[in-house]
Amino acid sequence: MASKPDPDVIYVCGDCGEENNLKRGDVFKCRECGFRILFKKRVPHTKTKRFIAAN
Ligand SMILES: [Zn+2]
Repeated sequence: MASKPDPDVIYVCGDCGEENNLKRGDVFKCRECGFRILFKKRVPHTKTKRFIAAN
């Protein structure tokens, strides 16, 4: 299986509302206020997917 890069996931702090971009291994808490309850937020993908035909 080809390894896929982990997509960036935005977490919104349940206290101050700050958006935190956390990756695997990061401490799961708000970087702004230290609150530990974060809500997952979907990141809109604005990139257009391209299909390249391999000849
Ligand atoms: Zn916070």
